[in-house]
Amino acid sequence: MKIAIVGAGVIGTTTALRLQEQFGHKVLITIFSEQFSPHTTGDVSAGLWGPYILGDTPQEKILKWSKDTHDYFHKLWKDGCAAETGVSLIPAMRVTTESEAYDVLWKDVVFGCINMDEKMLKRLSNEHKRNYKHGIQFNTFICEPSYLLPYLYKLITKAGGRFERKRVESFDELQSFDLVINCTGLGAKVLVKDDAKLMPIRGQVSRVKAPWILHVTIDDSDDGRYIIPNMHTIILGGTHQADDYNRKVSATDRQFIYDGCVQLNASIKRAEIVKEMVGLRPGRSQVRLERDTFTTNSGKQLQIIHNYGHGGSGVTLSYGCAIEVGDIVTEIMTDSINKVKSKL
Ligand SMILES: Cc1cc2nc3c(=O)[nH]c(=O)nc-3n(C[C@H](O)[C@H](O)[C@H](O)COP(=O)(O)OP(=O)(O)OC[C@H]3O[C@@H](n4cnc5c(N)ncnc54)[C@H](O)[C@@H]3O)c2cc1C
Repeated sequence: MKIAIVGAGVIGTTTALRLQEQFGHKVLITIFSEQFSPHTTGDVSAGLWGPYILGDTPQEKILKWSKDTHDYFHKLWKDGCAAETGVSLIPAMRVTTESEAYDVLWKDVVFGCINMDEKMLKRLSNEHKRNYKHGIQFNTFICEPSYLLPYLYKLITKAGGRFERKRVESFDELQSFDLVINCTGLGAKVLVKDDAKLMPIRGQVSRVKAPWILHVTIDDSDDGRYIIPNMHTIILGGTHQADDYNRKVSATDRQFIYDGCVQLNASIKRAEIVKEMVGLRPGRSQVRLERDTFTTNSGKQLQIIHNYGHGGSGVTLSYGCAIEVGDIVTEIMTDSINKVKSKL
C-alpha cells in the first residue's frame, strides 16, 4: 500500500514509524513536509509527558493515547536509547492556588503519584509567596523532539521510507497514493478548508542555562508557569495565547515568564538565557483522529486519515495516536480485500 503522510512533526513521524513497525514491507511510506526538525512545533516544546490543553477530547481517549506513549518512552529508556532520543525520567510537581483538587486520570500511568500534604503545601506556599491549595508529586518522562525526530527520520529512512520537502496545497496532489495521512498540526487549517475548530494557542518560552535544576515545577494557577529541565537547557514557560498567530518573541511575555519562574525557583534569577522561542500549538476543540474520504478533481475517492489538533500534548499523545492510526489502516486494508472478494 502506497501511503503519503503530510507533516514531519512529532505526530507524522511517530505515525510513519508505527506503520512501518506494524506492516513492514506491506507499506511504502513517503512523508511530505514543508518543515522538518529543528523547525517543527515540537522543537519549541519541552517534551514533557503530561496531558494538557486538549479541549473536550474524551477522557478515555486521552488516557489510552497518553499511556501508550508513556509505555513507548519507557521502552526507549529501558532499551538504552535515552541519549539519542532525548528521553529522561524526572521528578515533577504540580501545584495550584485554585480550590478544585487535582483529579488526574493518569495517576496510575506515571510513577509514584501522590497528593501533597498540608505541611508540604504550606512550606511551598511560604517559599513561593503563593497560597497553594493543592499539589501532586510524581515521576514522569521528558522526550525532547529535537533529539527524537532526527532519530526517527533515520529509522524511517532505513526501513525504506522517503522524505520530500514540499508544501501540499491540496490532497489532489497526492491522488496517486492509496492512502493519505494528514499530520499537519495547525497547517490543517489550510489543508482541511472547513476546520473552524482548529486555532493556534501561542506559547513563548525561554531556554536558560541552569544545570543545577533537576526537577519539573508547574504552577497551574492563573495563566500557568513552569520550569522543565531538558538535557542541555532548562525551559521556562510559558504563555497560552488563544488565536494568536504572532511568532515573534515578545518582551512583555519574556518578563511574565521570568517573574513567574523566579517566584517558583529563586535560583534561576541570574541564569543566562540561551534561546527564546515561540510555537503555535495546534489547539482544537478535540484531537481529530478519524477516517475520511476526499473526492479528487479526477473523481477518485481518496482515503484520508486525519491525525491533528493535539494542542499542548502532541508529544504526550504521539505514539498512542500512531497506534490508533495503525488500527484504522488495518480496517482500510480489510475493507479493500472484502471489496475485491465481493467482485469475484
Ligand atoms: C511552548 C510549547 C510548549 C509545549 N510543551 C509541550 C510538552 O511539554 N509536552 C507535550 O506533549 N506537548 C507540548 N507542546 C505541544 C506540542 O509541541 C504539539 O502538540 C506538537 O508539537 C504538535 O505536533 P504536530 O506534529 O501535530 O505539529 P507540528 O510540529 O506543527 O508539525 C506539523 C508538520 O506539518 C507540516 N505541514 C503543515 N502544513 C503542511 C502542508 N500544507 N504541506 C506540507 N507540510 C505541512 C509542517 O511543516 C510540520 O512539519 C508544546 C507546544 C508549545 C508551543
